[in-house]
Amino acid sequence: MFMRSAKTFVPDSLRGLIASTDDISWNPDPGYLMRAHPLPREQVAIVSGGGSGHEPLHAEFIGEGMLTAVCPGLVFTSPNALQIHEASKAVDVGGGVLHIVKNYTGDVLNFGIARELLREDAIDTDVVLVDDDLASERADGNGPGRRGTAATVVVEKVCGAAAERGDSLAEVVSIGRQVAESARSMAVALAPCTLPGATEPSFDLPAGQMELGIGIHGERGRERVDALPAPELVRRLTDPIIDSLQLVRGDRVIAVVNGLGATHPLELHLLFAELGEYLDQKGIRIERPLVGTFVTALNMAGASITLVRVDDQVLELWDAPCSAPAWPNSPARTYSAVGPSGSFGPTYTPPTTPTDNESAGPWVAAWAQKVLDQEPALTDLDRRAGDGDFGTNMVAALEQLDLTAMRDSYSTSTAFDAISQAYLGHAGGTSGALFGIWFRHFYRAAGNGRFDLAAVTTAARAGLDNITTLGGARPGDKTMVDAIVPAVEALEEAVRSGTTYDTALRQAANAAHAGAESTEAMIANRGRASYVGEAARGVIDPGALVIAWFFECGTGH
Ligand code: ADP
Ligand code: MG
Repeated sequence: MFMRSAKTFVPDSLRGLIASTDDISWNPDPGYLMRAHPLPREQVAIVSGGGSGHEPLHAEFIGEGMLTAVCPGLVFTSPNALQIHEASKAVDVGGGVLHIVKNYTGDVLNFGIARELLREDAIDTDVVLVDDDLASERADGNGPGRRGTAATVVVEKVCGAAAERGDSLAEVVSIGRQVAESARSMAVALAPCTLPGATEPSFDLPAGQMELGIGIHGERGRERVDALPAPELVRRLTDPIIDSLQLVRGDRVIAVVNGLGATHPLELHLLFAELGEYLDQKGIRIERPLVGTFVTALNMAGASITLVRVDDQVLELWDAPCSAPAWPNSPARTYSAVGPSGSFGPTYTPPTTPTDNESAGPWVAAWAQKVLDQEPALTDLDRRAGDGDFGTNMVAALEQLDLTAMRDSYSTSTAFDAISQAYLGHAGGTSGALFGIWFRHFYRAAGNGRFDLAAVTTAARAGLDNITTLGGARPGDKTMVDAIVPAVEALEEAVRSGTTYDTALRQAANAAHAGAESTEAMIANRGRASYVGEAARGVIDPGALVIAWFFECGTGH
């Protein structure tokens, strides 16, 4: 974790927040954040707060149409009553003050004491308690009850909008309570969080396992299970919510997929797609989606799902403008059904021309099969000297091919057309582009006639020239060029001396292998392997290796 010192972690972060936003000011004595722009007279002020570590909640939801002030505690520790008292006094403009409080004993106590003190000041106050987390609910109703988690954002947004449009304190409280009562959440962790200054994570969670019913304070969850595929996980999280809210076909909800701090946007959208599909099946209407990182548990990897039953009044407030820094700029106003899952990219339809007598189809198919089989080894080479994507990139292209059809029925030109299109249309990165253009030259040289030594040599020379003009690599740079150059030279020598096709291909394969092996001693000057410097030494270049395999598979064809 980045820090100056664990002790000053929260204030050290707050000063960055203040410096980087327009409408938030910091009052270090006794410790609250508030809008820099005062509210219009009589508007209800909204004060929230809680332990730090849940950012962007609450501080980054200060702004027009949302919160007026926020009292941050230390990490995972509630703020104290004096902070809340002073913040409330500072923001009251005659309309009274609403406290939005997550259901934790410390938070409830300190906000409650602050309201006691505010009576001495004759300031009108009230509270909306948020308790959405089903994981902490006990069947017997005992214990502290459901914790407050991601539904807090929804309550804060709706109350903020109600206050902004001029609702009275009683009205804001009433809509806030309605939203809080209509909201339930469930969360899952893939990895625990680590507190600033701690050397150990808050609990251990072995790789390949998930913790269901996790909270937002680094405490253990309710149940540990082997990692579930996303569709099943989403059902496990959502079913208790549907039960608890007694949602039925035709019910309308806001659906929140929230990251717990260290979860990638790609994963959150993936989960939302599953949630959307599942609710579509159940006939529960998502009126508004909200996907992103809003209520975190420091750097925990994981996500929560929140559903909030809504009506038109709540939706109107949800849609009202909001200038808080963490409120998404353009949250969706509608939801449309989730599309099918799967891959993307062009599909290849081979022409119906019959195969030629001595098609290169079996050659290309044999090479592709070998590369597919060796994917783990190739990935490993690129991981040790690069970024680890080479093998997956090869597979992305080659798995598009119908290798049986290629071997048995493709003409030479179809085989090279298919493979070059597979690379150009399905792989990316350096290798996708360069192999795509490499095979394009074989396709061009294939023409109509027999694919003889002259044609192979022409194709390989043109491919090499194109690869060097595109990529700028020279021999010695630790790339596929180190295998291609000696192979092309061997082919050209064979053409000059009238060597047979098979012998020539074998010589090219041997030269390419020697070239590939020579890359082991090199450091890279091209590609992402060049970023790792000395670490690349001792690792053979995977691009050069597969080029050697290509010529090797061509012998005997
Ligand atoms: P990246 O380097 O972008 O991660 P890939 O992992 O897709 O690319 O492919 C890596 C391979 O591409 C290397 O093994 C090397 O043979 C080849 N390569 C990288 N840069 C070049 C270049 N400029 N010219 C020729 N080949 C290159
Ligand atoms: Mg790579």
